[in-house]
Amino acid sequence: MARHGGGRGWYGKMVGAALGVTILATGASVWTAQAGATDDAPPRAAAPGKAVKPVEATIAHASEAGKRGINITIDDGPDPKWTPVILDLLREHEVKATFCMVGGQAEAHPDLVKKVVAAGHRLCDHSVSHNTAMDKQSEAYQSKQILDAERMITKASGGVRPMYYRAPGGAFTPHSRQLAASRGMRPLGWNVDTKDFELPGTEAIVATVERELPNGPTLLFHDAGGDRTQTVEALRRLLPQLKEQGYTFGFPVR
Ligand SMILES: [Zn+2]
Repeated sequence: MARHGGGRGWYGKMVGAALGVTILATGASVWTAQAGATDDAPPRAAAPGKAVKPVEATIAHASEAGKRGINITIDDGPDPKWTPVILDLLREHEVKATFCMVGGQAEAHPDLVKKVVAAGHRLCDHSVSHNTAMDKQSEAYQSKQILDAERMITKASGGVRPMYYRAPGGAFTPHSRQLAASRGMRPLGWNVDTKDFELPGTEAIVATVERELPNGPTLLFHDAGGDRTQTVEALRRLLPQLKEQGYTFGFPVR
């Protein structure tokens, strides 16, 4: 379910990074103010006893795994049929990935959320309703979508917080980025939209990754929303192939 997201190439990222410096500079006081405000009110979404450390509010694309690092990101689950298949595949190839979960899915399948965490993968908040027009909604709506999903995912995981926020369809706003960042969730973009959601065929998914990998290291796949056979088969080919080409797999920067 991609819309415009991260596929703007390195130039777009440089501009984004430059903008981010300004946003961060002005954002610091907001975070301070929020930190003060929580003294008077109980935290809404934090796991009990765990302090939340704000992160940068710019949209992340780079990999912690360095120059040859690739970030596998898997959206819209967890799904009882497909998430276990993908978890098996990732384990087989010793690959860690980032799972961008929808709040209700996490709430419905807490066992799967715990399995994702136990396997060493990271969690990402993908909102409650997956509204790809989030950027057209009120700030109150956006806040509720992000904070409710954060709470649902954290509860389902047994207290492990999502470390990123990915707006449905990439529909970020300055407000949603700042709010997520203040909750320790780095806004997460992507560089390669495999369009696996449109069922283009395994070959096409593999070809898209091969063609667009020069755009950047964050790849977008899905583990829910329909028959994900093509996604699984594409990953089964891509993971060993990319390893052979000297790539390593890691997590997006925070
Ligand atoms: Zn999605």
